[in-house]
Amino acid sequence: MTEQDIKEIETLLSSPKQVVIVPHKNPDGDAMGSCLGLYHYLIKNNHHAKVIAPNDYPDFLKWLPGNADVIVYESDKNSAESLIENAEIIFTLDFNALHRAGDMETLLENSKAIKIMIDHHQQPHDYATYIYSDVAMSSTCEMVYDFIDLLGDAPTIDAAIATSLYAGILTDTGSFRFPSSTSKTHRVAANLIDKGANHSDIYNSIYDTNSYERLQLLGVALKNLKVIPEYRTAYITLSQDELNAANFKKGDTEGFVNYGLSIKNIVFAAIFIEHKQEGIIKISLRSEGEFSVNEFSRENFDGGGHTNAAGGKSDLSLIDTVEKFISILPRYKNTLNP
Ligand code: 5GP
Ligand code: MN
Repeated sequence: MTEQDIKEIETLLSSPKQVVIVPHKNPDGDAMGSCLGLYHYLIKNNHHAKVIAPNDYPDFLKWLPGNADVIVYESDKNSAESLIENAEIIFTLDFNALHRAGDMETLLENSKAIKIMIDHHQQPHDYATYIYSDVAMSSTCEMVYDFIDLLGDAPTIDAAIATSLYAGILTDTGSFRFPSSTSKTHRVAANLIDKGANHSDIYNSIYDTNSYERLQLLGVALKNLKVIPEYRTAYITLSQDELNAANFKKGDTEGFVNYGLSIKNIVFAAIFIEHKQEGIIKISLRSEGEFSVNEFSRENFDGGGHTNAAGGKSDLSLIDTVEKFISILPRYKNTLNP
């Protein structure tokens, strides 16, 4: 994003506009936090803004300020379509390619609105009028903070903006432990606390809301955990039957993949989750160090993300997906276990 871009966006936002803000499909804390942070900022500046999520998201994000005003495309297509039709500006947050907006892809593609991308994923596509992409950033929430700051409005950040942005920084940095969280990330977080984000309440709202069933499911996941020392790799499987037995709800498996990575000497962790209804296996991949799960996912599982955190999918059965996974590891031996 150049100085010229910022000037143009400043002019664009100098009078009230119809704005739509869209996170990626299956939005996580960073996606919802960045959208709602930006939403509160725009509302405060007299714009008509709406967040439209492509599909539903976990309950542990539904306490976020402004959540009640979010439209879920999958369950309210008419409202979403008319908002997009009338939108003058569409912000796309926390994703790098329109297909990441799921069923909203075509709507967004066909819209004549000015599009502004704010995102930290690798290899951004060139669909937006303004692209603010920085793969070194901890989170899109940190970038929304910088965006507001670039517009000269950091002093106007209030508790609703601060709480939303802090929540997404917290989740995308694994509570400030991933290498992507820099001293500047901490300074942004500190500023957000000064503006009214209650770090302790936010942490509790997101992480201390386990159901008994989720913990039972975690037990199953940990029992299923397998280690392949030769490739310093660990993986977990969860079948649809296992999910059903634990009364699975969206978001219940969030973070499970990290247990594999927490094992000593393991640098690559995966979780394979069966989604019978969609007919796919959803895959989450995590790594430590230089092994790029973004590349691994692009090359083998139709996905992508960041160097150390990515997702993907497979049309094969759960067993065949795992077999494929194991069979391709030798190709990566040099990076996984040199
Ligand atoms: P998660 O494993 O938590 O679903 O996703 C990890 C990271 O990879 C997130 O930044 C997410 O946006 C990205 N990601 C997840 N699934 C996909 C996918 O299917 N395609 C792409 N390009 N990125 C994904
Ligand atoms: Mn993110």
